[in-house]
Amino acid sequence: MPPPVQTPPGKRSTTALRLGLGVLLVQLLCLTEVMAAETMRLQLRWLHQFQFAGYYMALEKGLYAQAGLDVQISPGGPGTPKPIDALLNGDTDFAIANSGLVIARMQGKPVVALAAIMQSSPTVWIVRADSDIYTPQDLAGKRVMLMQAQESAELRITLVREGIDLSHLEVQQTSFNPQDLIDGNTDAFGGYISNEPFWLQQQKVPYRLINPRDYGVNFYNDVLATHETLLQQRPAQVEAFLQASLQGWQYALENIEESVQLIHQRYAPDKSLEHLRFEAEQLQALIMPELVQPGHMNPGRWQAIAQSYLELGMVEGPIELDGFIYKRKVATDHRLLYQVLGGALLALLLLGAVALRFARLTQKLRLEVKRRQQAEQELRSSNLQLERLANTDRLTGQWSRLKIEELAHTEIKRAERHDFPLALVFLDIDRFKSVNDQYGHDVGDCVLTGVAQRIKTHLRDADSLCRWGGEEFIVLMPHTDLDQACLIAEKLRALIAAEPLTGTIGVTASFGVAQWQPGQELGELVHCADLMLYRAKKLGRNRVERFSPCTILPLA
Ligand code: GH3
Ligand code: MG
Ligand code: MG
Repeated sequence: MPPPVQTPPGKRSTTALRLGLGVLLVQLLCLTEVMAAETMRLQLRWLHQFQFAGYYMALEKGLYAQAGLDVQISPGGPGTPKPIDALLNGDTDFAIANSGLVIARMQGKPVVALAAIMQSSPTVWIVRADSDIYTPQDLAGKRVMLMQAQESAELRITLVREGIDLSHLEVQQTSFNPQDLIDGNTDAFGGYISNEPFWLQQQKVPYRLINPRDYGVNFYNDVLATHETLLQQRPAQVEAFLQASLQGWQYALENIEESVQLIHQRYAPDKSLEHLRFEAEQLQALIMPELVQPGHMNPGRWQAIAQSYLELGMVEGPIELDGFIYKRKVATDHRLLYQVLGGALLALLLLGAVALRFARLTQKLRLEVKRRQQAEQELRSSNLQLERLANTDRLTGQWSRLKIEELAHTEIKRAERHDFPLALVFLDIDRFKSVNDQYGHDVGDCVLTGVAQRIKTHLRDADSLCRWGGEEFIVLMPHTDLDQACLIAEKLRALIAAEPLTGTIGVTASFGVAQWQPGQELGELVHCADLMLYRAKKLGRNRVERFSPCTILPLA
């Protein structure tokens, strides 16, 4: 026994990939229809041999099982029913037939061709090399062993096309035994290119082949067929069987040695490995996997084959092949289409959901921005409000003590930088306690407000009036020296004392005036003015006292 031939790694991976894809396709096809394994019967047209390798490999590699099918393969040969008859009798679900299948169809029998495995027929004449037969014409008058008409149609039509009347030949019923050629019992043996020549080689008998293909006769062979009723009732199972079978063929042709070994072990132990290898080599040339997809059928070629049978008088016209050549149901494509559409719809929904979420987030963000802007605005205005409250005296509406300190700081800086004069007037309402005591606190408030308003109306825009505390006010006068400030203070004093502020209530006020000296802080300036105010009080009130460094200060 020769050592098993290893498949090259590259080819193995390609095969594995194709096998995987095949399995996936078959599974997809059967996804909805086939839930449990269904028994399917396949009737071969001859004994087990490499001729049916694709079906064995589909079975052995689990392709049928993965398609949900439990396939039983029955061999043919002498003593078994003809495959087409088995199909028509309901004894099998699928059959391997030759091109004669088309005759059955033209006779109105409900057979359907699913796939043509052999693109060319293996049927040939075999003659001894030492004979004088070289062409079909040389067969005239010779003894020719032929199988029955349907099995040898290619040989018969070749003779007709070459103008040889079959009556000019001595046609013998075949013995299926090429020994008759060696023994001289026949001159030409109608056989299979993949079979008898090997036997003759083994016997070391030189031979010659006359191939109908060389004379323009090219029939399909080993056609996978089914019954029209099965196709109508269980289209998905038929399609699944076909696809798994074609995948099996693909595998067998890419893994010939493995297939040969397996067929020898499990199916054809009587056929030697050498014979199976020879058969594989011959059949591969007829299946032509390099040129066409396994199983390919061309309606034009079926038409030509039918025409040949007509010429042979094996069938009557017209040639009507509608429904004979299997067309794949589009339902499968719809399923794929639905899957694609479903996927696209899902993607759209996801996209929509994302867009919706994005829109919601954007809206939320916009509201948040608006909310923050409002909050900032509110904060700004409440800050302004707070600032206003801090800077303004609530009773009189004039600057607060806090604000005058800030203003004075600025004015002192300016006076310092530009050498401007700056004066400060400090005034205090005289005997104000008695106003409160006499008229009440509210009236006292009105008097305070009235004094402030009266002073304010007589000041320049540049002057700043501040309620220092209680009934005390300060006026800060930029660009004003001591003399000018004293004049203004005098005017203010007269103004307050001139007429009553509310009703008959009149008040007076005492004033202390001081001019800012370089280097002085506000506190020092206020202190100087305060001293002068104190002095004015001491000297009788309702008067203005000016500060000068040589003023004699009244001590307490
Ligand atoms: P003098 O001439 O020495 O300044 O006498 P005076 O009474 O004005 O001085 P004193 O400091 O003894 O009294 C000030 C009074 O001012 C005491 C207080 O009741 C009153 N006063 C202070 N702030 C307010 C105020 O906001 N409203 C009212 N109605 N009275 C106030
Ligand atoms: Mg006072
Ligand atoms: Mg007072």
